[in-house]
Amino acid sequence: MAEGNLRQPVIIMPEGTQRILGRSAQRINIMAAKAVSEIVRSTLGPKGMDKMLVDSMGDVVITNDGVTILETMEINHPAAKMIVEVAKAQEAEVGDGTTTATVLAGELLKRSEELLDQDIHPAVIAHGYKLAADEAMKIINKITMPIKQEDIKLLTEVSKTSMNGRGTEGGTSYIADLSVKAVLKVYDPKDVDVDNIKIEKKAGGSIENSELIEGIVLDKERVHSGMPSKIEKANIALLNMALEIKEPENDAQIQITAPDQLEAFLDKEEEMIKKLVDKVKDAKANVIFCQKGIDDLAQHLLAKAGLVAFRRVKKSDMKVLAKATGAKIVTNIRDLSEKDLGFAKSVEERKIAGESMTFVEGCLEPKAVTILLRGGTDHVTDEAERALKDALKVLFTAVQDGKIVAGGGAAEIEIGLGLNRLASKIGGREQLAIEAFAKSLDIIPRSLAENAGLSAIDLLVHAKSEHGKGNKYHGIEVFSGKIKNMAELGVVEPAKIKSQAIKSASEAAIMILKIDDVIAASTIGGGGPPMPPMGGMGGMGGMPGM
Ligand code: ADP
Ligand code: MG
Repeated sequence: MAEGNLRQPVIIMPEGTQRILGRSAQRINIMAAKAVSEIVRSTLGPKGMDKMLVDSMGDVVITNDGVTILETMEINHPAAKMIVEVAKAQEAEVGDGTTTATVLAGELLKRSEELLDQDIHPAVIAHGYKLAADEAMKIINKITMPIKQEDIKLLTEVSKTSMNGRGTEGGTSYIADLSVKAVLKVYDPKDVDVDNIKIEKKAGGSIENSELIEGIVLDKERVHSGMPSKIEKANIALLNMALEIKEPENDAQIQITAPDQLEAFLDKEEEMIKKLVDKVKDAKANVIFCQKGIDDLAQHLLAKAGLVAFRRVKKSDMKVLAKATGAKIVTNIRDLSEKDLGFAKSVEERKIAGESMTFVEGCLEPKAVTILLRGGTDHVTDEAERALKDALKVLFTAVQDGKIVAGGGAAEIEIGLGLNRLASKIGGREQLAIEAFAKSLDIIPRSLAENAGLSAIDLLVHAKSEHGKGNKYHGIEVFSGKIKNMAELGVVEPAKIKSQAIKSASEAAIMILKIDDVIAASTIGGGGPPMPPMGGMGGMGGMPGM
C-alpha cells in the first residue's frame, strides 16, 4: 500500500515554476553577472568609450557613467541585477568608481568559475574571498595619503581625476576649479549634503562659460514684463498655492440672466484676486516664488503693485530657495505674514544664451551656491552635469574622509601584491581563492590600458616590477602610455572609492557564488518567466555569446 503511494510524484510548487540547480545555477548566474560587467568595461578610464543609450521613448543619453548605463538598460536577470546594485551602492556611498566596482565584481566571478571547474567548493571560495577583502582594507589603509580642506591643489587634482574622460574635454581643469570652490564654500562636517550645491544647466556657449554663483539660479523668467527685472533687498515669499480663481470642482453651472449679473460675478472674481495680492503686499513681500499657477489678472495686479513673481517653480527649487533665503513655504496665503519671508540682496533676471534666467544673490544663508553649467548642446551639459555631480560627491568624500590613494591602477596593483603575500601564508584551498582575488584586481589596470589601445601585458608587468621595488604609487598613465608615479602626476582618488568598490564587489560575488538553487515562479498572465533560461537578459537582446 505504502509502496504504491510513493510512486506518485509529489508536487510542491505551482505549475510553470522554473528550477535550476547546482553548477547550472552557478554557471548561469555567473554568466549573467559577467555579461553586465563586460558591458561597462570598455568605458573604464579616461580613454574609455562612451555608450549611446536610447530608451523606449527614443530619448538619447550619451554617457560614460557606469551607474547611468546600467540603470538605463533595464536589466532583468536576477543575478545581473545584483551587479547593478553594486554600482548603485557605490554611487550612493562615494559618487564615483561605479565602473570599477562593477568590473571587479564580474572579474571575481569569472575567476571563481575557474576554481569551481577545479572542484573547489563555493563555500571555500567565498571564505577565501572574504579573507582577501578584509586584508585589502588593511592594505588600502597603508597606502593612503592625507588630504585636507586647505589642500586646494590636491583637491583640484582629485576632482580632475574623477572627471577624466567624462565629456568635459578641454574644460576639465576649469570645471575642477569651480567644483573645489563650490565644495569649500558649502562644506560643513555636520551637513554633508551635495544637494547644497545647485547645478543649473544652459546649453549654448562652452564649458568655460560656466560660472559659480553665490546664490540660487533658476531657469525661470518673471511672469509679467511690466514687473521690474531687478529687485534690490528682496523680501521673498514662497507660495505653494495658485494665485488664481479656483475652477469649480464639479460641473457647476452658473446661470446668468442679466448683463449686470455677469458684471457682478466678474467683479467678485476680481475682488478675490485683489485680496490675494493685497495679502502679499501686507506681508511686505516684494518677490514671490509660486509653485503653482498665477493667472493673468493676478499677474497684472502684482505688476501694478511693483512686485516680481515667478510661477510653476519646481518643488526642488522651492526647497533650495527656502534653505537659502530663510523663507517658509506657505500653503495658504491667509497665513502669510512677514516672518515667513526670506531675504536676498538681489533678485535679478539676466539673459543667458538668449534665454532669461533668474539670479537670487546675496542670500541670508551664505552657503547657498549654484554652478551654472554651460556647454555646446544639451548632451554635453547633461554629461558634464553627471561628471560634475560625481566630482562634487568625490570631493566631499575626500574632505570628510581625509584619505586619498594613487589612481591609474596603482592602488589595485599594490593591493594585489599584498594579497599574494597573504595567500602564501594561509595555504590550503583558500590560498587559491585569495590568489584569484589578487588576479581579479589586475582587471582595473589591464582595462585602463586596453581601453587606451595600449599593450596591457607589457605595462602590467612593468608596473608590477616597479611595485616590487617599493614604488607603490606607480601606475599606468594612459595619456602617455607610460608607467609613472601617479601620486606625483596628481592622478589621485579618495581611498573610499577603492575600499567601497572592493567591499561591495566581493560581497556581491560571494552572494552569487553561494546560490545553488534558483526557483523562479511563473509570471501571471504567461508573460514569460521572470528568469529566462540560460541567463538571457530581458531588455538586453542581441548580447553576443548569450
Ligand atoms: P569609474 O566609474 O570606476 O569611476 P572611470 O571611467 O571614471 O570609472 O575611470 C576611473 C579610473 O580611471 C580610475 O581607476 C582612475 O585611477 C583612472 N584614471 C583617471 N585618470 C587617469 C590617468 N590620467 N591615467 C590612468 N588612469 C586614470
Ligand atoms: Mg569615475
